[in-house]
Amino acid sequence: MKYIFVTGGVVSSLGKGLTAASLGTLLESRRLRVVLQKFDPYLNVDPGTMNPFQHGEVYVLNDGAETDLDLGHYERFTNCVLTRHNNLTSGQVYESVILKERRGDYLGKTVQVIPHVTDLIKHRIREISDENKYDIVITEIGGTTGDIEGLPFLEAIRQFILEVGPQNVVNMHVTLVPYIKAAHELKTKPTQQSVAKLREIGLQPQVLICRTEKPLDHDVRRKLSMFCSVSEKAVIEERDVEHTIYEVPLTLHAEGLDQLVCDLLHLQTPEPDLADWQKFVDRVVCPKRHVKIAVVGKYMDVRDAYKSIYESLTHAAASEDCGIDLKLIDAESLEHGDGQLKDAAGVLIPGGFGGRGIEGKINAARYAREHKIPFLGLCLGMQVATIEFARNVCGIGNANSTEFDKNTVEPVISLLEEQRGVRNKGASMRLGTWPTKIVQGTLAEKIYGDTEVTERHRHRYEFNMTYRDRMDTKGFVISGTSPDGTLAELIELRDHPYFVGCQYHPEFQSKPNKPHALFKGFIHACLARELGPAPRAPADPLSPRRVPETELVAQ
Ligand code: GLN
Repeated sequence: MKYIFVTGGVVSSLGKGLTAASLGTLLESRRLRVVLQKFDPYLNVDPGTMNPFQHGEVYVLNDGAETDLDLGHYERFTNCVLTRHNNLTSGQVYESVILKERRGDYLGKTVQVIPHVTDLIKHRIREISDENKYDIVITEIGGTTGDIEGLPFLEAIRQFILEVGPQNVVNMHVTLVPYIKAAHELKTKPTQQSVAKLREIGLQPQVLICRTEKPLDHDVRRKLSMFCSVSEKAVIEERDVEHTIYEVPLTLHAEGLDQLVCDLLHLQTPEPDLADWQKFVDRVVCPKRHVKIAVVGKYMDVRDAYKSIYESLTHAAASEDCGIDLKLIDAESLEHGDGQLKDAAGVLIPGGFGGRGIEGKINAARYAREHKIPFLGLCLGMQVATIEFARNVCGIGNANSTEFDKNTVEPVISLLEEQRGVRNKGASMRLGTWPTKIVQGTLAEKIYGDTEVTERHRHRYEFNMTYRDRMDTKGFVISGTSPDGTLAELIELRDHPYFVGCQYHPEFQSKPNKPHALFKGFIHACLARELGPAPRAPADPLSPRRVPETELVAQ
């Protein structure tokens, strides 16, 4: 078993997760079995209760774990299917150490960061490797080197390396090499100091991943190599990508990262086969046409808040040889008019919590329904579409969700029965993978090409089935339910080319080479409607980057 630890230096937001995931892509393309895990030094037990402003999206796994969004990168960039064991926070570590102490597991001892906390961290790395399903574990440590709260993780890694032997480990440090305009120079000092900080703790990186705006010239590479004690070929340039994050594995490969890591770990592998990945990137970079999708949500300035949704749109669009023009609309701004939706070829409403912006979202759903614009409502998006239809088509003027009006007289969306006694907010929703039975003869069946699917959930409220018949007669179809038929999972409108809402989050299961059916169907419908802006794609048929249709990977 081999181990790669990914730390970050100088500043946060360097894209460590993406870098770790991209290394995963490269190693998998060399036929190695890879798994990724993330250690987060904050004290929350999981990010489930954090606001998207703080933390970006909460990514949900099959087993219902609410995790850091980097796990989304891991699942999209590799074949691994992750569980709650793949995301560890300081909160979890201390919670279990203290529980053990109360149980008396440490009877007679003083419980301390070293060895009790560090032992538990090491155990979590071992746990994954013991499964024997993988050749390599890539562990990303959240935060920035020098943070006090990250120290126990780094100390655990230091000890771990001693136990498994340095020949089985690569420490990869992702760092910033800033360009200082006044000096016309890239500066290596922040990286030198960050590596010095790591050395203080007893960790020596073997690879430096240098995030930079400008190419690293020979001098800079030599300096970094000399002062950080890494070989010159282990100074890897990771420049800001030009078009898409999916270019990162290709640029790291061009820098020789995968070969270097295999050499350091004494692994003999075949050359990587990145042809399919390259084709996908080419399609994203140079699509035949573009389609404008309006996303109506609450956190439009926080790009990470709806990360998996944006990625899923990209995957689906690429499979239709099309690019996405995102039009991000703050739901509150639609409360008094829908003008902003005029040029949208499709409307998507993401999941969410709380009442802010709800009336704007309802207006967006109405606009899409009335103008027959393809609509995709995810979780809360499905719920607002339901409220809209009940109010404006079924004449249930007071229709609402008990989430926004506890005492509403027309609760078309109401709390799940199982949630009634729940008091704690953490990890207490209906979470993770649940099966959906699809009603035959519906659009949903056509889109999925299947009558049973499993999807990831994260919600407390549901469609109130007592309204089903009343709404069905007006054209609102429950096209998928839980296997026992009690919970609505999917809705669609009979008299609309593509108006689909789901109680779950399909965005957590879309990958570049496997776009999710609901997103694919959505983009397809947007294109079919051909009301979008005139194609303004580069679409130069002679462009060498264009991939002939016949060569494309079957999706
Ligand atoms: N707030 C809604 C619920 O809890 C929707 C949740 C979501 O969109 N993830 O049911």
